[in-house]
Amino acid sequence: MTRVFNFSAGPATLPEAVLLQAQAEMLDWNGMGASIVEISHRSAEFIAVAAAAEADLRSLIGIPDDYAVLFLSGGATTQQALLALNFAAPGQVVDYVVTGHWGKTAIRQVAPYTTVNIAADGEPGGFRDIPARDSWRLSPDAAYVHITANETIHGVEFRGDPPDFGQVPLFADFSSSIASEPIDVSRYGVIYAGAQKNLGPVGVAVVIIRRDLLERSGQPRAEIFDFRSHAARDSMLNTPPTWNWYLAGLVFKWMLAQGGVAEFARRNAAKSELVYAAIDASGGFYRNEVKPAVRSRMNIPWFLPDESLTARFVAESRAAGLLALKGHKAVGGIRASLYNALPVQGAQALVDFMRDFQQRHG
Ligand SMILES: *Cc1c(COP(=O)(O)O)cnc(C)c1O
Repeated sequence: MTRVFNFSAGPATLPEAVLLQAQAEMLDWNGMGASIVEISHRSAEFIAVAAAAEADLRSLIGIPDDYAVLFLSGGATTQQALLALNFAAPGQVVDYVVTGHWGKTAIRQVAPYTTVNIAADGEPGGFRDIPARDSWRLSPDAAYVHITANETIHGVEFRGDPPDFGQVPLFADFSSSIASEPIDVSRYGVIYAGAQKNLGPVGVAVVIIRRDLLERSGQPRAEIFDFRSHAARDSMLNTPPTWNWYLAGLVFKWMLAQGGVAEFARRNAAKSELVYAAIDASGGFYRNEVKPAVRSRMNIPWFLPDESLTARFVAESRAAGLLALKGHKAVGGIRASLYNALPVQGAQALVDFMRDFQQRHG
């Protein structure tokens, strides 16, 4: 068996130890003589798995008790739509700060339900920077302000303290950077993330909600679209994605055993510094156009001088055991995703390859 270094943006690489454990337990989990995918979500055994996953995520990220934690299906995109239904009154304005592709997606999901104010938009600048905070045009009565903590495709990340809007809560899409470094959860009203970047397999999303926000009436909606109902039923209003929840729980335990988010922050800084240094030392052969202060630690897009070299880079890196370096079609070029489960040796192998490739083709 050969396992390569996997730079996929999502679904993405998982810790080998977690995959091996899941494999070993696949047919007979916990001595039950059945797989975890074959037992009821209402069984005491599964409820214990679900509760442990929540407790582990709380200790991993430092989630205070006055926040609810939900494990829901539908990915990050469904949660984007539910934000307006649950937290904005009909017609109430919501403020969005757009710093890349996913901020635009988030707006499309709420546009049918409420009035969107684009408070700031990085698109005229090609999403190479985050518009300066004092240029944001915020609405005085916004239901919330939404940001994308890390833009997975454009490689733009909020760094430093999150913005503060007083009484208006900050909602953040953390799909591709959750648990990648310590954050102060209390600065946010809602944090949400699809699991398939940094937390586990696709099919489950994590939503962290300050409990007082669950009292908002929002808009008429079915129970299944209601965060309050999901919270009241411990995310088991209907059949939850049990397999995905279990696997994510194994990843949380693995992250805690590795040293928690402080340790991953250290590794993620080391990995991204290696790759940015290789780009910046290439004399323009490799080009990342994002302003250094907001460069993403998790997803690094870059360009080569032309399309044929780009195609060659993708093919040769694949042959060298470096998987999924082709850029997203919206941007082109190359993209390396450096999530928690990608070891530092993976980033080292990538920069060694980059130098070698430049020597042969530069
Ligand atoms: C991947 C991603 C999404 C979309 O997630 P789905 O689970 O496919 O709905 C949304 N936001 C960000 C920042 C992402 O990286």
